[in-house]
Amino acid sequence: MFHPAGDPADTGNFPAMFQPDLLIPEFPILDQMIQGRPLVYLDNAATTQKPMAVLLASRHYYEAINSNIHRGTHHLARLATEAFENARNTVASHLNAATPDEVIFTSGTTDAINLVANILSLSGRIGPGDEVLISTLEHHSNIVPWQMLCERAGAVLKVIPCHDDGRLDQAAFLTLLEGRVKILALTWISNSFGTVNPVAEMTAAAKAAGALVMLDAAQAAAHQRIDVQALGIDFLAFSGHKIYAPTGIGVLWGRAEILNSLPPWRGGGEMIKEVTFEKTTYNELPFKYEAGTPNIEGAIALAAAIDFVNGIGLSMIQPYEQALIRAAAEALADIPGIRFYGPADRAGALSFNVEGVHHYDLGTLLDQMGVAVRTGHHCCQPLMARFGITGTVRASFALYNTESDVAALAAATAKAVSMLR
Ligand code: PLP
Repeated sequence: MFHPAGDPADTGNFPAMFQPDLLIPEFPILDQMIQGRPLVYLDNAATTQKPMAVLLASRHYYEAINSNIHRGTHHLARLATEAFENARNTVASHLNAATPDEVIFTSGTTDAINLVANILSLSGRIGPGDEVLISTLEHHSNIVPWQMLCERAGAVLKVIPCHDDGRLDQAAFLTLLEGRVKILALTWISNSFGTVNPVAEMTAAAKAAGALVMLDAAQAAAHQRIDVQALGIDFLAFSGHKIYAPTGIGVLWGRAEILNSLPPWRGGGEMIKEVTFEKTTYNELPFKYEAGTPNIEGAIALAAAIDFVNGIGLSMIQPYEQALIRAAAEALADIPGIRFYGPADRAGALSFNVEGVHHYDLGTLLDQMGVAVRTGHHCCQPLMARFGITGTVRASFALYNTESDVAALAAATAKAVSMLR
């Protein structure tokens, strides 16, 4: 496992103890040329690249222990079950869950949010006239499942507005809490603008108003330490692929007391205790919400990714990535007509547009110069509408990005803009 060396007291612009150069060889995909230039991968908010530790965990699973889990009496079934349940333990301790039973493996954040919206809807906890509170910053994954719930339940979707700097309007939030809010479903970090919401304070206010709180930690997972108990939330979702693990695996964490009080959703194998044609009784947590064969390899690889991140330490990763983002904003600031979105203390993603230049054209030219960014609405159409734009160019950062990636982004953007104007 990678353990960087250096002085923990260093608080310089680029923390000296963090040595991405040592990490880069751990990510084989980064060592390639794109359009004749070394790849500069700045699309980490969409998905992160995978380190050898994760690739080897996936491969080892299929090479050595592949088997269906639980119920099996044979050796491989026992090994696979043990590895899968150990992965659950790793996730639970990473999140500081009260018990591993609170960790439900899903296919990703979207799946986890849909699960919560559906079980709340089935439970009748949200009824006609009740309110579901989200924010302007949400990804479609944290909008549409709630809209669908509201349609079914006769409930009302309310939206916390945001200021021009991309921060949520906290005064408006407190006023909205005076309504009949049953759940606050909020992103921790905006995937479009990098805004870091004050989730602890907002959770406290929502809980005081009697609402449940669900955090979308899809972006936060790779950049923030998560302590679900300290946060005081009820549900949290994240996707493995945004924290250096494979696609198709994710996590719903839910407070056991609440999950125990809610009905199952998908029916099938594993989620049952006993089935007759007349009646079925349901399994305990976490299996109650894991119908069918899960993504066993994905869960094991996710645990490897979490171990990889913790081997470096989010307390090291976070200031390093923040320094990179600040440096990127500074390096791009000289481009005439550039406008950044989101507050200066953004995390993960840096979004911008350049006057007179379409974000898509800019992204296409950047790709031709070997720089991978994302352009468009980033699955946040209502947020784009709020700012009167159709999209942005988004550079998003991970622990393997470097100052030279920042320089490449700035140089390529300046050149592309001069070509497009
Ligand atoms: N929420 C946020 C903030 C995201 O950034 C994303 C993906 O970009 C999602 C939800 C959906 O994640 P997934 O597609 O992995 O389910």
